[in-house]
Amino acid sequence: MQPLLDRLGRPLETLRVSITDRCNFRCVYCMPKEVFGRDYAFLERRELLTLEELARVVGLFAALGTRTVRLTGGEPLVRRNVEHLVELLAAIETPTGEPLELALTTNGSVLAQKAEALAAAGLTRVTVSLDSLDDEAFRAMNDVDFPVQRVLEGIDAAAAAGLPVKINAVVKRGANDGDILALAEHFRGSRHVLRFIEYMDVGSTNGWRLEDVVSADEIVRRISERWPLEPAELERPDATARRWRYADGGGEVGVVASVTQPFCGGCSRARLSAEGRLYTCLFAARGHDLRAPLRLGASDDELTEQLRGIWTRRTDRYSELRTAETASLPKVEMSYIGG
Ligand code: SAM
Ligand code: SF4
Ligand code: SF4
Repeated sequence: MQPLLDRLGRPLETLRVSITDRCNFRCVYCMPKEVFGRDYAFLERRELLTLEELARVVGLFAALGTRTVRLTGGEPLVRRNVEHLVELLAAIETPTGEPLELALTTNGSVLAQKAEALAAAGLTRVTVSLDSLDDEAFRAMNDVDFPVQRVLEGIDAAAAAGLPVKINAVVKRGANDGDILALAEHFRGSRHVLRFIEYMDVGSTNGWRLEDVVSADEIVRRISERWPLEPAELERPDATARRWRYADGGGEVGVVASVTQPFCGGCSRARLSAEGRLYTCLFAARGHDLRAPLRLGASDDELTEQLRGIWTRRTDRYSELRTAETASLPKVEMSYIGG
């Protein structure tokens, strides 16, 4: 099968699926309380794609060559029956007869309760977001007073269930940049790969400023001063994280430099919002509605044609073109489109 390529020659490898726009955290850089307060209008249940609709769409993507599906949100583990969704997706095969890579990004708050069921349902791996090990700083960043210990228990439960675990830490200057070394130390030599993520100008509500970004270079320099690092090869050509190896054999650490060293050239990711809009870039202002045709009885062939059309017209490379002006343009929120 000829791979489906966009206008810049990029294949459609990964689909990130936001399965809910709701979350039990109010991370200051993602869903600030002043905006996502009690009166915020989240999507109604009937507006969300059902689990069966999600599985159908993912099946069409798999037939087009998508190999990895990442469930995200909002907080994906607050969606009812997420285990059943994983089961449905685990049954989908790629054209070469292999199962999909099924990943999930979570804040880890209920992972301790759900890890075993998720692994049994066929999840391949999990990424846990953890921005600080300092309980006070962690509670302030999630802004709902959630203790860090429960997330650490979730990470242990996932590993005990046999799921490979990665840890994502967004670094925001003045909020948690003082915790970089403690995080690195905690996960050095463990089975879990830690990745630091530059604070991004996603959405329009988090008051992003370039001064708040701690660059990947600075992060690597700070860690290197304590534990020397050497560069390691990329995991895949479309990998988002640059890998570094501890020279003393303490394993690896990654940095995702979306702001200072954009990687649009290898970006093979599409994103599906919880209400079934397809976005071809994290920073897109508009998505393509798939829910209407799905609910109006479109056939698989018709939907596949629509997906082909969207991908073959894709030209997005927002991060490579980012300027102060574009950073302040309206964009879709991260909690809606998924990270
Ligand atoms: N609730 C889940 C979680 O926190 O892992 C999944 C959704 S969350 C939107 C996905 C990822 O995006 C998380 O790792 C989060 O830290 C990251 N994220 C959110 N806002 C961000 C921002 N402004 N810059 C960089 N990463 C961000
Ligand atoms: Fe929720 Fe994840 Fe956003 Fe934090 S980063 S508010 S946990 S969706
Ligand atoms: Fe991909 Fe858009 Fe991010 Fe570039 S800015 S890497 S095109 S999601």
